[in-house]
Amino acid sequence: MEKLSNLLNLSGRTAIVTGGAVGIGFGISYRLAEAGANVVIANRTAKEGEDAAASLSRQGFSVIAIQTDVSSEDDVKRMVAETVKRFGSIDILVNNAGIYPAIPLAQMSLQDFDRVLSVNLKGVFLCTKYASEEMIKKGRGGRIINVTSIDALHPSSVGLAHYDASKHGVWGFTKNIALELAPHRIWANAIAPGGIMTPGTQKLQQQPVPMPSGVDMQKMMELFLQRIPMRRLGDPDDIGKVALFLASEMSSYMTGSQIVVDGGVLLM
Ligand code: NAP
Repeated sequence: MEKLSNLLNLSGRTAIVTGGAVGIGFGISYRLAEAGANVVIANRTAKEGEDAAASLSRQGFSVIAIQTDVSSEDDVKRMVAETVKRFGSIDILVNNAGIYPAIPLAQMSLQDFDRVLSVNLKGVFLCTKYASEEMIKKGRGGRIINVTSIDALHPSSVGLAHYDASKHGVWGFTKNIALELAPHRIWANAIAPGGIMTPGTQKLQQQPVPMPSGVDMQKMMELFLQRIPMRRLGDPDDIGKVALFLASEMSSYMTGSQIVVDGGVLLM
């Protein structure tokens, strides 16, 4: 039997974490780097990515930032090429970057819908396509971890129809590529977080959007909190630890699965 410390050891592996500068992405970057992986933070805003990489590097971890908008094919191709040039391989891809602007259907424009689908679903497609090409070329397998949401299974709030469509899409995409990439020993799984305290969710609380009459966003948030059997929101490390599990040999017989990490919300 392999020793536990070896199972969790990611030394010599390289991980890309999209949107890895803050929130859930930062929680994931931290745990993968702590386990010994080289981590590439692929973030849209360059400064956020560089600050996050610098703070992890100061702790002795191997982390760099490569500015990337995951919805741009040119950006993704460049980021993948730079990662391989710098570290020699891509072993783990975490598709975490995502946006969730709450907009009721009646106010939702085609541009609003396209933007959410572009980042949340097209971005996952582009990063997976180009990173898996490199994994296949290298021939030593790999891990793809897609951050979906409990909204991939069940809606959590009014105003997220475009978001829920994108997350259901990512879950379907995950299962299909798990099938296609298995012969290359590339395992693909998803993590479905519930409510996690991040800069994104804080922003949502601070700038409530006008909802259809009868729908009080603030009240919905309070109700959501009350519904959590664990009686707290999650923090990014609750997701970081599960991502480490999926990136490591601890999950050696898993592909095409989605792990719900929600403090029990979906029980209610
Ligand atoms: P967050 O606090 O808003 O942080 C998102 C990060 O992704 C930011 O660093 C952001 O950079 C980056 N990003 C956004 N668009 C990008 C793009 N086009 N290309 C590259 N990077 C981009 O988000 P979060 O709450 O941590 O959520 C992370 C993921 O978890 C998302 O996929 C979200 O849907 C999912 N999730 C979150 C929750 C939750 O309660 N927080 C629950 C379920 C699922 P910029 O600042 O430059 O935009």
